[in-house]
Amino acid sequence: MVPAELPTNESERLAALLAYDIMDTQSEAAFDDLAGLAASILDMPIALVSLLDSERQWFKAKVGLAASETPRQVAFCSHAILHQESVLEVEDARADLRFCENPLVTSDPHIQFYAGAPLVTPDGLALGTLCVIDQKPRKLTEQQRQLLLTLSRQVVTQLELHKKNRELQGLIKQLADSNRELEDFASIVSHDLKEPLRGIYNYAIFLVEDYGEQLDDDNRASLAALTRLAKRMEALIDSLLYYSRVGRVDLARQATDLEKTVDGVLETLSFRLQEAHIAVRRPTPLPTLTCDAARVGEIFRNLLTNAIKYNDKLQKWVEIGAYQGVTGEADHPGQSYPQSATPGQWVFYVRDNGIGIREKHQAKIFGIFKRLHNRDQYGGGTGIGLTIVKKIVERHGGQLWVESTVGEGTTFYFTLQEKA
Ligand code: ADP
Repeated sequence: MVPAELPTNESERLAALLAYDIMDTQSEAAFDDLAGLAASILDMPIALVSLLDSERQWFKAKVGLAASETPRQVAFCSHAILHQESVLEVEDARADLRFCENPLVTSDPHIQFYAGAPLVTPDGLALGTLCVIDQKPRKLTEQQRQLLLTLSRQVVTQLELHKKNRELQGLIKQLADSNRELEDFASIVSHDLKEPLRGIYNYAIFLVEDYGEQLDDDNRASLAALTRLAKRMEALIDSLLYYSRVGRVDLARQATDLEKTVDGVLETLSFRLQEAHIAVRRPTPLPTLTCDAARVGEIFRNLLTNAIKYNDKLQKWVEIGAYQGVTGEADHPGQSYPQSATPGQWVFYVRDNGIGIREKHQAKIFGIFKRLHNRDQYGGGTGIGLTIVKKIVERHGGQLWVESTVGEGTTFYFTLQEKA
């Protein structure tokens, strides 16, 4: 028996094998399928995806063999990896000096025929082989050799996918870690920043109550500004916390009758709607969809609140509706579709006859803390409502967009992706 020489790039090869993090992993259908395919197409009793470390060959996939590994010294694959671009074919091992005394030939599994195609990484390193074995002498046709090489390239593609998948898992873990850090940060913000802020607010109120009489108008105005700003800061912190929670907490998806969801939202807004003399139009019933009912309620609440706020007409109205359409086509005037719409996908909208939004501002309004008006105009606001709406829509795999004409009104549209 003549043992194989070590490849010239052996240390690099071993480092690459380590980086693939594949040795001694569970079997995977993709590798099993390729080994099975090699065995059945080439009509061989044994087929293996074999990987070579410094001591042994280990089988990531195997057909027709009980052993899970053998010492590297006796491995035919140790020879095959030296043939970077071609198949090593041993037609009759008993008549080959390199293998005739090999225990895999003289005893179980009694190898007589062997053909191995090296698994060459994109960096040119042969990690092992895809090999087929028979217990009688054989000879492959040129077409069969090419087939084995093609399948070996598919094995390498799977190895690459396996590696990418591991890397992805690592990134997902990192993401989970940084999300946890963000959660800690959120609670630090809520406790450590809000606490002193409340103190500032309370002391300003005490000052007004205890010394208000002795202060002149300017000083009183400064104190009033101080309390107003402290309140605003608290509202900003609260909305930032809410935004971060919307991004982190898992959706509670369930079959949701959106007609009922909107009923509930309108009920909570009924006082404001009456106060602003806004007529509510609901031309079409909304469907039942699988979504997070509370979060989708938030979408409607935010859009309706804006429709109430940003309207200066005498006869104000807001319309809530939904339609299903054909991909990318408007079935009726006033219906808009995202480019990625799938046939039958629901599009929801909230339309008003309010002040409208200039085209050049339409992309900006979805940015965090972006407002188009002075602090106290149109009832004020933190400028985070649409950012939250966008986040909820995106977490549902949907899209949000706006169409508007200044002085005539605005329509916000959104879609939601139903997941099984
Ligand atoms: P906020 O209402 O607290 O300012 P939003 O994120 O909900 O924050 O809205 C951002 C900006 O978009 C608003 O300040 C307003 O200028 C504009 N906007 C939102 N909805 C409407 C609407 N229905 N009509 C006109 N302008 C709107």
